[in-house]
Amino acid sequence: MLRIPCPKCGEISYTPNVEGFYPCPRCADFFSGKFGLDRRRELRRLERIRLRIYHQGRNYRGETFDVSMTGFGVEMLGSPHFSIHEVLTIDRKRYGISRAKVVWIKKDNQKARFGIETVN
Ligand SMILES: [Zn+2]
Repeated sequence: MLRIPCPKCGEISYTPNVEGFYPCPRCADFFSGKFGLDRRRELRRLERIRLRIYHQGRNYRGETFDVSMTGFGVEMLGSPHFSIHEVLTIDRKRYGISRAKVVWIKKDNQKARFGIETVN
């Protein structure tokens, strides 16, 4: 594990992957040990879209907190039974059904946030 300070707030976090982008545990900005703050973030819209998420016979309700060309940040209540690299089926009312891979996930007592990337 590598010890990396957040380029924005200085909070120390640990990552197994220096090139990956993960949210800072304190300020929630995305950064990578190698590339710094996530510049793609500027291309993300803060848009709330309700989702239904299906995975291995379970379904979840979530809501996006950001939306980009390639994926979403999603927030949901409870603790999901999926993990990084797993592929979910996403149903967005206006956009139909798509498949998306879990890129990162962060759980706390009441809710979870995770990033997904759409796949074909
Ligand atoms: Zn930070």
